[in-house]
Amino acid sequence: MARRRRKPRLAVWKFASCDGCQLSLLDCEDELLAVADAVEIAYFPEASRGEVRGTYDLSLVEGSITTAHDAARIQDVRRRSRRLVTIGACATAGGIQALRNFADVEAFISVVYANHAYIQTLATSTPIADHVGVDFELQGCPINKRQLLEVIAAFLSGRRPAIPSHSVCIE
Ligand code: SF4
Repeated sequence: MARRRRKPRLAVWKFASCDGCQLSLLDCEDELLAVADAVEIAYFPEASRGEVRGTYDLSLVEGSITTAHDAARIQDVRRRSRRLVTIGACATAGGIQALRNFADVEAFISVVYANHAYIQTLATSTPIADHVGVDFELQGCPINKRQLLEVIAAFLSGRRPAIPSHSVCIE
């Protein structure tokens, strides 16, 4: 009896962001059903419950790195991911939260929070590619959902996405 082929495992990760790029994926509706038929959506907390487990064929990463915890977490995501694609301006450029890079983050914290003893943050917001190797950067704020579907389809079929974007290190 022929063995059923394992579906590629897709994961969607969130770092510092507004969730708008993940919503672009959820907004794909019919197309998302086709994606779900072609892949196992193995980790996508925005859409369903799930736990981090094993490795993933394709990881989509939204958001920038703003805490020491997230700086460590993205290393784990990279180790678990055969391909890693960053989606949106937060993940590819640091996002609006990178305005802090040009100011004193401690001054911001003391103005916004009365009790800031529990605020743990880095002085900067940095793109994912500053921390780990990235296979492709999909830009936009939010990203274009058609382009996102093209990126997913391309990586699942082992070809380069037909998108005029700068890729970081796709082979
Ligand atoms: Fe939100 Fe824009 Fe960041 Fe996407 S790139 S998560 S839409 S702020």
